[in-house]
Amino acid sequence: MKQTYKMEYGVKKHEKLQEIANKEKEASQKYFNVYLTDPDSSLVGLIDYFEFDGNEAYPVEIKSGNLPPDGLDNPHKLQVAAQALLIEKNFDFLVKKVRIFYTKHHELVEYPIDIEDKLKVLKIVEEIETLIDREKIPEPTKHQGKCVDCECKSYCLRA
Ligand code: SF4
Repeated sequence: MKQTYKMEYGVKKHEKLQEIANKEKEASQKYFNVYLTDPDSSLVGLIDYFEFDGNEAYPVEIKSGNLPPDGLDNPHKLQVAAQALLIEKNFDFLVKKVRIFYTKHHELVEYPIDIEDKLKVLKIVEEIETLIDREKIPEPTKHQGKCVDCECKSYCLRA
């Protein structure tokens, strides 16, 4: 079977996680592929891995794409901020930072996150729930590159 871009990405991501898992023992504990839910906020997430260094815990996401411009609307940061909320809810830690490893650039970026970031995530979840309740189809993304291999294309306004 021909591999799709997303299947290739999944294999690469798995190899990267294996490489990280095989590294010499470090001071921090790493927990890989952790699936977490929070029924109160309706958040669900599969976290690539999260680290606990004895004092604090933080999620780490692995991305194959480019670094996005920084700012509150940085979608990568928001995605990992949602994972931070899930860790807080499930393990009772206060999460103050998140990390994203960009495989293409071989760069690990760390973002401090605060209450503003967490509230922004919860606001987005609320907006999505409102769309679902009203059975409204959301506006297509401005970033048309994302549509190329999107599985939702046939249900979307862009179709
Ligand atoms: S095709 Fe997919 S990525 Fe593009 S706007 Fe529609 S849902 Fe979003």
